Amino acid sequence: MEKRDTNMDGFTQKIEEMAETRQISLELLDYILHRATEEEREILFSKAREISQAVFGKTVYLRGLIEFTNYCKNDCYYCGIRLSNKNASRYRLTREEILSCCDKGEELGFRTFVLQGGEDPYYTDDRICELVRAIKEKHPTCAVTLSIGEKSYESYQRYFEAGAERYLLRHETANEEHYAMLHPASLSGAHRKQCLRDLKKIGFQVGCGIMIGTPHQTTEHILEDIRFMQELQPHMIGIGPFLAHKDTPFRDEPNGSAEETIALLAVLRILFPKVLLPATTALGTADAFGREKGILAGANVIMPNLSPVQVRGKYLLYDGKICTGEEAAECNVCLRARMTKIGYEVVDSRGDHPDFT
Ligand code: SAM
Repeated sequence: MEKRDTNMDGFTQKIEEMAETRQISLELLDYILHRATEEEREILFSKAREISQAVFGKTVYLRGLIEFTNYCKNDCYYCGIRLSNKNASRYRLTREEILSCCDKGEELGFRTFVLQGGEDPYYTDDRICELVRAIKEKHPTCAVTLSIGEKSYESYQRYFEAGAERYLLRHETANEEHYAMLHPASLSGAHRKQCLRDLKKIGFQVGCGIMIGTPHQTTEHILEDIRFMQELQPHMIGIGPFLAHKDTPFRDEPNGSAEETIALLAVLRILFPKVLLPATTALGTADAFGREKGILAGANVIMPNLSPVQVRGKYLLYDGKICTGEEAAECNVCLRARMTKIGYEVVDSRGDHPDFT
């Protein structure tokens, strides 16, 4: 009789239980992130793929990322565009440049534009609202996502009324002490979490998220992040490895691991079947095939860069960022081909969360 591998059966059982209960213990999370064998990782990924394909099919949504300003008033210890980085070459795109990125994006098949930037005081609420209105007027079938940091309830309300329907704000870490190790005292995790609750209350599709492998991060912290996500029930979860930037206080810290990030993507897919889950550029930077591996571990979104090529090399959150020299059209062709190669189809739709369609 064939000898059964009881360890493997036990692992499969645990993954099935996780899928059924949508809960994970600290022990299992730690095991998955740090000690699972290749075979066990494949069991995990295969369950995550099964769930992702049941909800979304073998499709991948595109988000056109427009990095419209790298001015920032904050001083996060990990970030290459932090205020104190005097080596950063600062830029901000004009309204016309941003609109022309959207025109190009729609031609390429994008139906979501993500406007991301540092917290740049030049971009007042009036300017942001005017911009959002102009984009929606020219591209009424496209979704506008903002990712411009912590604002007041009233500001978020204004952006929503102007037509923005999604907002990305990674909470970075749900643990207050850990938050204080990554940020100056002027910033608080509690406020960032409150912003996410406000955004959700206003009616945005909301994305939270973390970096994997930030200094002092423990598995307990990641479990706290998961618990926070279970409470918030975000529509999107953005995770990527922490990657050091040479002009930040964390310049000598080790990079986060692509393997851990991919394993966590699979865990998140299993715990949050309907969530929009990007395979990020940081993951593609940490591992040349990181985005493909992320999709095969349950992610269902990729975010090609639509920023003009002359500023791409300036939006450097971390060292070694990929795709800084390519035109939007090249990135588009390349990413679509990469997805086709692994058996997935990029779809030209807005890619809303299933509860919003
Ligand atoms: N200012 C907006 C905000 O605060 O949400 C958006 C821009 S911020 C630079 C976008 C995200 O980049 C952050 O939430 C953070 O998780 C990520 N990031 C910053 N520095 C990073 C680094 N060194 N490695 C990986 N990701 C990083």
